[in-house]
Amino acid sequence: MKTSGTGKLAEMLGRSKHTVVLTGAGMSVESGIPDFRSPSGWWRNIDPLTVATIEALETNYELFHQFYTARIKGLDSCLPHEGHHILATWEERGLVQRVATQNVDGLHLRAGTRHIDELHGSIHTFRCHHCQSIATKEQFLNKTSCNTCQSNFIRPNVVLFGETLPQEAWTNALHHIQQAQLVVVIGTSLQVYPVSQLPSMTRGQTVYLNKEVSGNHREFDFVIEGSAKEMLKEVNKVILAN
Ligand code: NAD
Ligand code: ZN
Repeated sequence: MKTSGTGKLAEMLGRSKHTVVLTGAGMSVESGIPDFRSPSGWWRNIDPLTVATIEALETNYELFHQFYTARIKGLDSCLPHEGHHILATWEERGLVQRVATQNVDGLHLRAGTRHIDELHGSIHTFRCHHCQSIATKEQFLNKTSCNTCQSNFIRPNVVLFGETLPQEAWTNALHHIQQAQLVVVIGTSLQVYPVSQLPSMTRGQTVYLNKEVSGNHREFDFVIEGSAKEMLKEVNKVILAN
């Protein structure tokens, strides 16, 4: 594992003609959205990995509904942070060609990133779990049944554990990662399949930027240990100074 400063990442970004940024929950922590695996304690001490499942949706809808209602309401007061905005300006300046994210919070889009694949869907749109008809946020929050099939299983358009990823987002992300000269992975523990496989599918260079770095990250060409916002600000300073 090689660890060095943010100057090197700035240099790599400058040299690469095709860069993909892959983000996870750690990217949004500094916007006030907790990740799943850091031991900061989550909602009612319930492990989200057991609620964000098809099984919970189908057999314990009450708990599923409470969990997603808490997540949706928690997002009301959250804004993209400087790191999200920096990634959007890098896209504008041609330094980043694609962002692929596991986050469902929509913060990259709010910050202005346009070329994005939301690999785990979005918590801002809704559908009926039975007939797939589009539903509204109000229908979900108020537990109103589906307009088409009357089912009570209205859900956010997030990918639950046990479900396949949205085909188009996956195909696009994979295509860009295969073309990439540089893949920068930010704020993900890389424990969720199949996104965990993406960094190994490029022929380009790979960088891992995370708050905690372990021996598991030896396969990356370069590792930066630090918080997403602060590290992106530092890299951006170097870019702006050149
Ligand atoms: P994860 O919780 O497994 O891992 C987050 C990683 O980010 C950890 O390695 C942690 O050390 C690191 N981290 C924490 N704070 C950081 C910071 N400030 N800067 C940089 N790194 C930081 O999350 P994951 O790998 O994205 O996978 C979890 C699953 O949960 C995904 O499926 C994702 O869709 C979902 N999730 C999404 C959100 C969101 O939309 N914001 C939030 C929680 C979980
Ligand atoms: Zn329906």
